[in-house]
Amino acid sequence: MPASLTRSRAMITQALDRHTCEIVPDGAVLQEDGVIAEVGTYADISRRHPNVPVIGSGNEILLPGFVNGHHHIGLTPVQLGSPDMPLELWFVTRMVTRNLNLYLDTLYSAFEMIASGITTVQHIHGWAPGRVGEVERRADDVIRAYDDIGMRVSYCFAVRDQNRLVYQRDADFVASLPVELRGPMQRWYDRFEMTLDDYMGMFESMHSRYSARRRAKIQLAPANLHWCSDEALTRLSDASRKFSVPLHMHLLETAYQKEYAQRRGGCTAVEYIDRFGLLGPQMTLGHGVWLNESDIDRLAETGTCVCHNCSSNFRLRSGVAALNVLEAKGVNTAIGLDEAGINDDRDMLQEMRLVLRAHRVPGMADDVPTTAQVFRMATSGGAKTTAFGSRIGTIATGLAADMVLIDWKQISYPYMDENTPLLDAVLQRAKTEGVRAVICDGEEIYANGRFTRVDQTAALQALHEELQAALSDDEVERRRLSSALLPHVKAFYADYIQPDRHQPFYRPSSRI
Ligand SMILES: [Zn+2]
Repeated sequence: MPASLTRSRAMITQALDRHTCEIVPDGAVLQEDGVIAEVGTYADISRRHPNVPVIGSGNEILLPGFVNGHHHIGLTPVQLGSPDMPLELWFVTRMVTRNLNLYLDTLYSAFEMIASGITTVQHIHGWAPGRVGEVERRADDVIRAYDDIGMRVSYCFAVRDQNRLVYQRDADFVASLPVELRGPMQRWYDRFEMTLDDYMGMFESMHSRYSARRRAKIQLAPANLHWCSDEALTRLSDASRKFSVPLHMHLLETAYQKEYAQRRGGCTAVEYIDRFGLLGPQMTLGHGVWLNESDIDRLAETGTCVCHNCSSNFRLRSGVAALNVLEAKGVNTAIGLDEAGINDDRDMLQEMRLVLRAHRVPGMADDVPTTAQVFRMATSGGAKTTAFGSRIGTIATGLAADMVLIDWKQISYPYMDENTPLLDAVLQRAKTEGVRAVICDGEEIYANGRFTRVDQTAALQALHEELQAALSDDEVERRRLSSALLPHVKAFYADYIQPDRHQPFYRPSSRI
């Protein structure tokens, strides 16, 4: 990447603690070959490097690019015909998804993410039908989209080798259904032909094929406890150590999942995966809404990370994660937009405000999210949960040149009190229309509302046109199956847990 100098009105390089961040007025970053070569003031660096092209007008705030710690798909479930429902029922409504062109689909969400300042995404791919070769080609389509648009991706394919629709063996669930639904249900399971050997082989193949890439890394993902056999957990844990790659695992998203762990192992889900050596800084738990206090202590002790998917937890009625306790115990946390965020548009600026405000329990103690904490979660905290680690997420010499410039006028016009802390003003008021430039690996991939490498209008038009085709036979069958299954799945969970056995750990009213 040719050298460039990014200038700002002020630069926020990193969060230093829960209440302070490092701010450099007139801050500037010199990058060479995608790496930050110098950090200082524009006055100083531009004097010493007068011929380097300059990004920014000096009227923007410069921040590290944001990290979306948990992402799956492009077109949102709502767009694809799946309304928000409690998670376990929502899995059934997700069966109606269209057969999508994953390259275009991935571009679609990348447009939204980048426009809100995200430079790195943890893409957790799953549910790709077919055999391993076909699935690996789809995985390549996803990564090619990020490659073309210029965004960084920490990619994993989620391993599911059991209990694929409900928290019960696939064969038992088929047998429990009325006879007319058994064929369609079995055909749905049969669409997904990957064996555990296939999953592990695909990881090794991709890990080696992408090892030289700067903006793409391959890591591992046990999809969730109920979806993974003991053998899968063992092999994923071994592979993580052998290849030194992180893992991202949905865990304890709902009370039903907490109950599932009790039934399977007579313990909590955290205790269960601990038996497989899966806890540690290499592991990030997605959601973690139903962690109990000793689980959180164990995460803190082992350095295990949690990705907080705040919007998703609200939308799918999962509950409210104990973010304040995680923070108090020193657990590293990231922010994940998961499917779509609260506004169905993958807006990280909006999601940060939601995280900031969703945990403001009554009282006066310093135990609710601060702007510096949320900023850390969206940058260096998220970075640690990806395969890029601490090479991203902070503006410092020697780290990756991933940055976002946000217009100060959009934030502060027509007035902003001079005593308002800069980070408060940015986090509480910055909107996507104020995002002036997004730089990834030293390259400006988004400038003044335009993507520099991909034609957004043409890509969206192509996605639109592909989806005008009539529904295929399998799409029609999956629609019928999904609505026919709902009452049976509801019945399966009706007495799955006794409501008084799993009180939410986080109860705002219990604090004072
Ligand atoms: Zn997820």
